[in-house]
Amino acid sequence: MTPATTAGRRTEAYLRPVEEVALALGTDAARGLSGEEAAARLERHGPNALPETGRRGPLRRLLAQFHSPLIYVLMASAVVTAVLGERVDAAVILAVVVVNAAVGFAQESRAEKALAALAALTQTSATVVRDGVPVRVPATGLVRGDLVALAAGDKVPADLRLVRVEELAVDESALTGESVPVVKETRTQRSRAGLADRRNMAYSGTLVTAGRGAGLVVATGADTAIGGIHRMVGAATPVQTPLTRKIAHFSRLVTAAVLGLAAVTFGIGLARGLPAGEMLTAAVALAVGAIPEGLPAVVTITLAIGVARMVRHGAIVRHLPAVETLGSTTVICTDKTGTLTENQMTVTAVAAGGRVYQVTGTGYAPVGDVRADGRPVDVAAHPALLACLTAGLACNDARLVHTGAGWEAAGDPTEAALLASAAKAGIEPVPARLHTIPFASERQYMATLHQDGTIYVKGSVERVLALCDTQAGPDGAPGPLDPAAVADQAETFARRGLRVLAFARADAAPGTDALTGLPPLTFLGLQAMHDPPRPTAADAVRACRDAGIQVKMITGDHAATARAVGARIGLEGPVMTGAELAACPDEDLPDAAERTAVFARVSPDQKLRLVRALQRRAHVIAMTGDGVNDAPALKQADIGVAMGRGGTEAAKEAADMVLTDDDFASIETAVEQGRGVFDNLVKFIVWALPANVGLGAILTAAILTGADLPILPLQVLWLNMTAVLILGLPFAVEPRDEAVMRRPPRDPSLPLITGALVARILLVSAILLAGAFTLLHWEQAGGASLETARTVVVNVFAMTLLAYMFNCLSLDRPLLWRGVRRNPWVAVGALALIGVQLIYTYAPPLNDLFGSAPMDLAAWARVAAVAVIAYIAVEVAKFVHRPRRPTPADPS
Ligand code: ADP
Ligand code: MG
Repeated sequence: MTPATTAGRRTEAYLRPVEEVALALGTDAARGLSGEEAAARLERHGPNALPETGRRGPLRRLLAQFHSPLIYVLMASAVVTAVLGERVDAAVILAVVVVNAAVGFAQESRAEKALAALAALTQTSATVVRDGVPVRVPATGLVRGDLVALAAGDKVPADLRLVRVEELAVDESALTGESVPVVKETRTQRSRAGLADRRNMAYSGTLVTAGRGAGLVVATGADTAIGGIHRMVGAATPVQTPLTRKIAHFSRLVTAAVLGLAAVTFGIGLARGLPAGEMLTAAVALAVGAIPEGLPAVVTITLAIGVARMVRHGAIVRHLPAVETLGSTTVICTDKTGTLTENQMTVTAVAAGGRVYQVTGTGYAPVGDVRADGRPVDVAAHPALLACLTAGLACNDARLVHTGAGWEAAGDPTEAALLASAAKAGIEPVPARLHTIPFASERQYMATLHQDGTIYVKGSVERVLALCDTQAGPDGAPGPLDPAAVADQAETFARRGLRVLAFARADAAPGTDALTGLPPLTFLGLQAMHDPPRPTAADAVRACRDAGIQVKMITGDHAATARAVGARIGLEGPVMTGAELAACPDEDLPDAAERTAVFARVSPDQKLRLVRALQRRAHVIAMTGDGVNDAPALKQADIGVAMGRGGTEAAKEAADMVLTDDDFASIETAVEQGRGVFDNLVKFIVWALPANVGLGAILTAAILTGADLPILPLQVLWLNMTAVLILGLPFAVEPRDEAVMRRPPRDPSLPLITGALVARILLVSAILLAGAFTLLHWEQAGGASLETARTVVVNVFAMTLLAYMFNCLSLDRPLLWRGVRRNPWVAVGALALIGVQLIYTYAPPLNDLFGSAPMDLAAWARVAAVAVIAYIAVEVAKFVHRPRRPTPADPS
């Protein structure tokens, strides 16, 4: 047995010293595995993933298609029909049932596939050290023995025996239910303990809430503790939203009602002494015609298609209900750095020793120089400048990497910019680091302790100044601190839209090897960096305004920086700072939050307060976030939006939506898509329901009056298969209305189908009923056979639904040819339907199977007349109910 297989089994690793665990795993606790070894192990032991559960297999999904009251009715009727000797009819019914199931199965598979693809997109990534170099890899690529680095916000990607911790705290509630973060250590434990008490282990699926650390992978995939207790980390999300639930509920109610009605009519018919077989046929026709059985599936599929479209536009929806909520969003609260700006930082100015220097060059390439009054300076001759740039190099976790495309930032772009400025000045490497206090938004500074006993600190101006008691003069020696002058200089930079960092240093007490507190510091200087607004930001902000959505920038950055950046992208008005927020009592906050568009120096917990305050104003809020501490605000917001690139796993976990490019414009596009999806659903429902109501009404009327059935069950099934399927398709792929972002957000308390639309549904149902009834009698009065008359009825339904489909491409504006041109499926659907109806009417085999019969041209003209009447009636109804648009931007 190789050491790696007996090694550090999960139950044992915490009881053994790190060296022993490393040896047993055949790895190196400092340099990790080699790339080849890791690849070989991955090959041998498989990916670090839990076996999929929760998703139904294809067979179960296929069988589920048959599990519906309607199908039971149909199958029962097939059996009865067969017993009554109508073999062909029975076979056709069965065939239709199978075709229906197949179509349902195919549609559902498509939806599931779209959603499964989403799950794959939101996979965890992890930082693993291979050959001594940290690299970011998908968590599925981890193997036993890998050395994994952890930082605040990470999701622990496998079970780890910790080898290094710096204030590492882990939220293990996913595993233990205990929500208080556990502080970790590396010491070998002496006695056996439960999972919750193994302080030197970090378990897969838990979240790092603070600090940093590293650990060796002792178990992956199903062998992890979370795999062991059989909890799915990325369990398949159910294909359900409040809307789909409502629709499913509605459809169940209607089904029950129609089945009840069918039973009653059956009873009445029997009581009147009509033959049982005939009454059964009538009841079945009624059930098939009136039950909107396709509705729930279409809703789900439309949502899934919408979700797939959003992915293409940079937004991954993690929770399906977000698609609906997006359409109702009234406020978007967004980060500045990286979302409205590019997060491409370049230091352009440095203030140190009472002078201001310019830094040339753009991007992260170490090409450029430091100038004073336009002339390059020798940095060695400017000790304060040297110290300030050195602090930026020392107190830094980023790296500059040279790729084919040039120099890029690995890690925090803010820090990478400091590396670039130090490189341009030719600063020497600093002594190795002993300890780090990592940057956190609420702390607003970062500190490092180095082997030579120097402490370097960098952070926001206010925060760093508060830690200083002296200031480096032009010669670098500590002198009296002038906080007002420093703040002034920072303000000058910030007003130009620059992001400002302050630097300081101190000597640690001899023998210090960890930073427990900070001694008084000497202020060294400021570095100011440029971060251009995204070119799309201003347009996206304007688009939101036109759509009745407020945009608010919430940033940890300086008020003047925030104001300057805001002004460039169209966010104006007073700036509210975190201090002012803190001073604002709860009852005044909603007002203040409503009025303000830019918030600066805001801490993550204040974001939560802001969301709550705005929600008290009945706002529907989308809120972005990237850090661990943003998670509560993301959860509280109606739509939490996490950054896919710059965001932590903790933020992604808490979010409803993840932006793949961190771009604000993607949120705006997602809102647009959300509104479009909703529109398409409403259009489809408004289009589909009249057929059910019309068929239900005409069959009930016939049964109650004892007339011949105007349409047979098989013919209803035919309509379901052709008209509804062929014409329903264009709605799912219908591009969203151009006007979708020119109207206010949908009020979530309004019903899906408003009163005016209910009236429209009833209007079309009435036309269908009247048209079909009139033509049925017209044909019979003219001496046509019952078969031909029924064929006319089927064609009335098919052609009216076709005309009405054109109406429904827009619910409130007249149909334009444009609408047809931009969705080719409309024309395809229309031609296909006409084609199949001609076959239905004239092809002898179908005449035999479905009891249809040829009809003459005059009959077609009458059918067309009904369709045209329906079309004109709906256009008139649109005109009468045309909405008043509150926004003036509508050009039509
Ligand atoms: P935002 O992401 O909204 O710009 P942050 O919370 O990241 O705000 O930053 C707030 C302030 O903290 C910045 O203005 C800057 O002065 C300081 N800061 C930002 N990043 C770092 C860092 N890596 N180390 C030290 N200080 C930082
Ligand atoms: Mg930030």
